[in-house]
Amino acid sequence: MQQYVNEAVEQFRSILEEQIARQHKMEQDHRYTDYAKLDKIIIGICGGDGIGPIISAESERLLQFLLKEEIAAGKIELRTIEGLTIENRIAHQKAIPDDVLAEIKACHVILKAPTTTLKGGTLESANVAMRRELDLYANVRPVSVPELGIDWTFFRENTEGEYVLGSRGVEIPDTLAFDFKVTTNAGTKRIARAAFEYAKKNGKTNVAIVTKANIMKKTDGKFSELCHEIAKEYPGIEAEDWYIDIMTANLVNERTRSRFQVFVLPNLYGDIITDEAAQIQGGVGTAGSANIGDVYAMFEAIHGSAPRMIETGRGQFANPTSMFKATEMMLRHIGFAEKADLLDKALRICTDTEKKLVITGHDDGATCSEFGDYLMQTIAGIS
Ligand code: NAD
Repeated sequence: MQQYVNEAVEQFRSILEEQIARQHKMEQDHRYTDYAKLDKIIIGICGGDGIGPIISAESERLLQFLLKEEIAAGKIELRTIEGLTIENRIAHQKAIPDDVLAEIKACHVILKAPTTTLKGGTLESANVAMRRELDLYANVRPVSVPELGIDWTFFRENTEGEYVLGSRGVEIPDTLAFDFKVTTNAGTKRIARAAFEYAKKNGKTNVAIVTKANIMKKTDGKFSELCHEIAKEYPGIEAEDWYIDIMTANLVNERTRSRFQVFVLPNLYGDIITDEAAQIQGGVGTAGSANIGDVYAMFEAIHGSAPRMIETGRGQFANPTSMFKATEMMLRHIGFAEKADLLDKALRICTDTEKKLVITGHDDGATCSEFGDYLMQTIAGIS
């Protein structure tokens, strides 16, 4: 037993030193990508696993359509990145094989289809690895249901909490298991600033700081305290403390939910509550997600690789809407707000009002590429 204890203490020491170094590096790093100043923006497209290649191919087609002139003029390059597949990742025993990571880092932004994550074992999720490697600290998920008065934007901290050390826990066989959770000053301040800055730029007056600081006193306590510190730089924006349990209930409380505007949360709570919010909007297939850092940004569907759809031969009926939403967010991020607005308008026509084609995920609905055609025809009709 003493041997296990010694090994665990050593492991904790090395994790602690590594995290102190990470926090220090964050404080020192002032790099920033200004997309408006780039001669050419390289968009990397990762096909991923399961239904990933099917829905990402539709997004690529959509981008070729929307950015036809910019691509022809050499201002945009669409670059397909192979190799972010579960087979390749298992073969290299790496969440992102080195050559794939180098290709990703040679792009400015990434549009990523879902990737499969194995249960158990030590192979880390490609998403978690990409967020860490590219330092994508803000996971931004908008959820909007105008008829219910819902207009929410979630800022989930993306590089800390339980996730960053999730594959590095300690286990003493037949006795116990420990995982680690970390909150740093620099990591919290930057996500808080991203949320309040968004609120300020978009005329929002309220930011909900959602934690479980009454129980996780150190990590969530720090998160809440530092968010309030940043809030002082934003007079006119109210910063409210909420606990994650009651906030989970609030989102389904029809009497109170429309009062919320912007949320800032640690990683795990953000992961869970944004799926709940997406479900209120119409399901995980209807939401996109942005993973934003100061240097890189990655945009993705919020659902997974739906392996059963492939196993049962239904891959071509996968819904590409979530990837299209991710595409819209990406366009907005790199400075094509008008094209993003056009895409948003056309998507609303296709999915909410006109609904000439409906995707069901089964052979009684439209296929992914039929829906892609419908969307592009709609865009052509309104532009
Ligand atoms: P999932 O999102 O893949 O599937 C959940 C349900 O939603 C299934 O019934 C599936 O058929 C359906 N579904 C998902 N996307 C759909 C689409 N576009 N069109 C129609 N139906 C769709 O979740 P899961 O089964 O829990 O996870 C499968 C794999 O995906 C796992 O390995 C998981 O780790 C991974 N995953 C990846 C990401 C990501 O890369 N961002 C996110 C979540 C899960």
